[in-house]
Amino acid sequence: MIIVMVPNATEEQILEVVRRLEDRGYGHHISRGVERTIIGAIGTPEDPGLAEQLSRLSGVERVMPILKPYKLVSREHMPDTSPVKVGEFVFGRQKVGVIAGPCSIESREQLMETAEAVKAAGAIALRGGAFKPRTSPYSFQGLGREGLELLAEARQCTGLPVVTEVMDQRQVELVAQYADALQIGARNMSNFDLLREVGRISKPVILKRGYASTVEEWLQAAEYVASEGNLQIILCERGIRTFEVATRFTLDLAGAVVAKLETHLPVIADPSHATGNHKLVNAAAAACIAAGLDGVMVEVHPHPDRALSDGPQSLTPKRFCTLMETLRAVAAAVGREV
Ligand code: PEP
Ligand code: MN
Repeated sequence: MIIVMVPNATEEQILEVVRRLEDRGYGHHISRGVERTIIGAIGTPEDPGLAEQLSRLSGVERVMPILKPYKLVSREHMPDTSPVKVGEFVFGRQKVGVIAGPCSIESREQLMETAEAVKAAGAIALRGGAFKPRTSPYSFQGLGREGLELLAEARQCTGLPVVTEVMDQRQVELVAQYADALQIGARNMSNFDLLREVGRISKPVILKRGYASTVEEWLQAAEYVASEGNLQIILCERGIRTFEVATRFTLDLAGAVVAKLETHLPVIADPSHATGNHKLVNAAAAACIAAGLDGVMVEVHPHPDRALSDGPQSLTPKRFCTLMETLRAVAAAVGREV
């Protein structure tokens, strides 16, 4: 079972839970997040009597039996979608959020031009990769720290919060100094040490689905982040690998809806990586909003033909404006707003 302590539970209250567990022969694992402490009871069988007893202790918010492989992120225990803030925007509410920007930060001019354009069109956050997970070690790997500094400058100029990927556990502290939300890329969805590390900070995490991962594995990855105390998680479906090669990946729209049904976390999608083709992004993004997802993240580049990564799937600022118009109409049709 999992014991969730109230925010600011005292050390004495935590120790009392541990003592009761030990008395009944259970081990324990304590995760101390910035927001709250979560205690996992290690041992079997699940003891409903003990759960009942623990739930009455002061400092305990709730005690949850483990029925599913994910718990804290499950909708069973939190029926309403959790709001997750990125800057001033709240994901998981009536408004759907569009995050946009280049795949990689390449230069000040490229980033500023994109940032101004996506802001003017209605994006709520700027994305841009500084540390890039490239399939080939010889491809452009990103500007690293310089890219983070450019992102901070773009935030300063436009007021848009910034989203960027963190690839390595050792970079979490650095990236968190600059980013308003940290992206965990598809290739790192199962990097459990990295997941735990971002679970220990108090910034939102955009957790992409691994392209060879099931929905259940994706939700367990989110549980890793949550188990360390950080429940500010947005799930992002970004396409999975199937036999189909007409598109770069296959957008698993139904899988994303399953995630929405199963968890209380906001779910968004990335139609750029899912399709790999700018001509398909509009249709895929529209489908995501029609299906009830909480937003999309798309790649935009002022000159896609010159992009150092993912040019073929990047929208020009003009195409991005068209996309926003489409999304406004689709959102209105399903009782939401962009
Ligand atoms: C990206 O967002 O640029 C990216 C690399 O995404 P993914 O991890 O989904 O491939
Ligand atoms: Mn990309």
